[in-house]
This record gives sequence, structure tokens and C-alpha cells, in this order.
Amino acid sequence: MDLLNTLVDKGLRRELPTREEALAVLATSDDELLDVVAAAGKVRRQWFGRRVKLNYLVNLKSGLCPEDCSYCSQRLGSKAEILKYTWLKPDDASKAAAAGVAGGAKRVCLVASGRGPTDKDVDRVSETISAIKEQNEGVEVCACLGLLSDGQADRLRAAGADAYNHNLNTSEATYGDICTTHDFSDRVSTVQQAQAAGMSACSGLIAGMGESDADLVDVVFALRELDPDSVPVNFLIPFEGTPLAKEWNLTPQRALRILAMVRFVCPDVEVRLAGGREVHLRSLQPLALHLVNSIFLGDYLTSEGQAGKEDLAMIADAGFEVEGTDTTTLPEHRTDASVQPAPEPAADAAVPAPPSEETRRDLVSVRRRGAGTELPPNA
Ligand code: SF4
Repeated sequence: MDLLNTLVDKGLRRELPTREEALAVLATSDDELLDVVAAAGKVRRQWFGRRVKLNYLVNLKSGLCPEDCSYCSQRLGSKAEILKYTWLKPDDASKAAAAGVAGGAKRVCLVASGRGPTDKDVDRVSETISAIKEQNEGVEVCACLGLLSDGQADRLRAAGADAYNHNLNTSEATYGDICTTHDFSDRVSTVQQAQAAGMSACSGLIAGMGESDADLVDVVFALRELDPDSVPVNFLIPFEGTPLAKEWNLTPQRALRILAMVRFVCPDVEVRLAGGREVHLRSLQPLALHLVNSIFLGDYLTSEGQAGKEDLAMIADAGFEVEGTDTTTLPEHRTDASVQPAPEPAADAAVPAPPSEETRRDLVSVRRRGAGTELPPNA
């Protein structure tokens, strides 16, 4: 297939595909799926070998958010019966993080609901970062606290945060459809503040919210332009009690095509399989390891993931290996400021979203263990 040969060549050269090529990946048929996975897998192996980086989420503050992001179970007005609690104490957060590290996680992601942190919240999180770093040698810490105000990125960096996550989520054109309390440019600005403060930027998307293929390509191209070091790809978990509860738009095959498209557009970036993998990829999860080089271990913020031990077994069975703390995740050239990304191509083409998939509420389980509970975590 000429398309796939072209995309592999470009991926190996870190050259940006055209929008038409990215759209064409999303439009491939199920008959072509294994060829698409094999092609994107070549690009993945060129830059990351067979390594899989494990990341572990600690939800520092759950629910009760004043923002209205419609995909989120923690949003204003959410009726989802999730755990709700305020800031975990630094020691408790550190204990939760240690469980993830013991399970093989190399990065701990400290997440808090809310529009953005107050300066007092930044103090709190700084203490938590110190506690985690003292107790877990070599661990990377990423903070995800919402929109940042002036000076907060510098303070988090000074406190030892290695990375900051803030997702773009969807295309600029459709951002107003999923959230009215902040906009796309607020999100871009926070990612840029994190980069300016010297933190590794992590920014990704959520697929399956009813967006078109053109929207998906738009957000991935916007991410490529922002140039984060890691791109988490979430698949919408349609929580009952949220406005998007009926958006069951993904098949395992479509989820794989989306991951392949992200890999072709962001060939040398840590592409992370994030929330919703169990719900939407289901038994095809191991194929996704040929596309991504990073996953979350265990549970998510407000929903449960597959058992950490099953994640490790899946990685081993598929012939991949967990990345150790002695290995640098990103290829060497990504730390070389003189290397510039390939130029932006022109043109666009709208392709309609596929028909809805069957509703599978049985696959969504609200988190009832780990951080904020008396029960042991899943790691
Ligand atoms: S700001 Fe964050 S926690 Fe709040 S509704 Fe949006 S995604 Fe959810």
C-alpha cells in the first residue's frame, strides 16, 4: 500500500505527514488494519524499540470541579457516583505513588480536579513532590493541576516536577462544544508555560466524543505544533451522569487506527495509551503496544483499569519489555534544541465520523479502591 510505505518513510525521517495522509489512515478498512498496525509499528520500534514506559496516576483531589468539561465525571453538575475527596496529604499521596512504582511505574502523575491551582495548592503539591522523590529514587513526577497562573510553572519546576500535563483534548473548532468555562487557547497557553519553565510537556487528546476524523487530525496536528514530549491518547469513558454518557462511538479497530495516526504524526514522541483502553480496545489491547510506547498501569482517576499484574503479563506476552529507570524514554535528538520539526503541510478534508457502537455500560466501573479510600490500590 503506497500510503503506508510513504508514512513509514516519513515516520523514520520524523517528517510530518500531510493532513490527507493522516485522514487516509483513519479511513482504512478493517481488512487493512493489520497492515496499518505493522507500518506504524515500524516507526514505533525505530524510536522506542520494544520498550513500554509505565505511568501511575494518583488522584490528589477528586470530583467537585467548577468547570464543565462534558467528558469528565468530576465536572460541575456531574451525577456520576465517583469518589469525591479533597487534597490527599503528602504522605498519603506518596504511599499511593509508591504502590505504582513497586508495580513497575517510572512516572507518577499527580492529578487534581479544578480549574487550576491556587498558590497554596502549589505549596501543597510541592510538598507532595518532595515526599515522593525522597521515598522513590529516580521516579519522574508529572503534575496535572489544570490551568496555570503566572509563576506557578516555575514554582512547580523548582519543587522538582519533571513534567506537566494539560491535554488539548479536541480540535480548536469543536472545543466550545465540550467545554464553556475555558477555551482551547487557555489550554495551549498552560502547555507553553510548562515548557517555558523547563518542564517536559505532556499534552494529548480524547477520542470518541462525537468528533469527526478532521477534528481528530486537527488536534493531533495542533499537538505536533506544540511539540510536547508525551501525547496521551484517551478514549472517552462514557460515564453515566455526564453529558457524553451516550457517546459510544469507538470500535477496537477504530481505536487502533487513531493510535496509528497519532504515531505517524508524532513519530518520535512518547505516545501513551491512556484512559478507556480496556473499555474500547478490549481484547485488542496487545496490538496497541505496537503503536504506543507508554501506558498507564492500574486504575485511572475515577474509573478502574485492568489489574496491574494483567498489564505486566500483557506486555510480556506481546514480546515487549517494561522500560527501567536507567533508560531515557525519548530518543537523544529530542533533547537537542537545534533539531527542528518538519514544516507544516497545507490542505484539509472533512471525513464524517463512523456510526455509533453498541452501548457497553457494563465495561465502565467507577474506582472504589486506592487513593482516597481504605482499600489497597491496583498496581
Ligand atoms: S477542569 Fe479537569 S477536573 Fe474539572 S471538569 Fe474539566 S477535566 Fe474535569
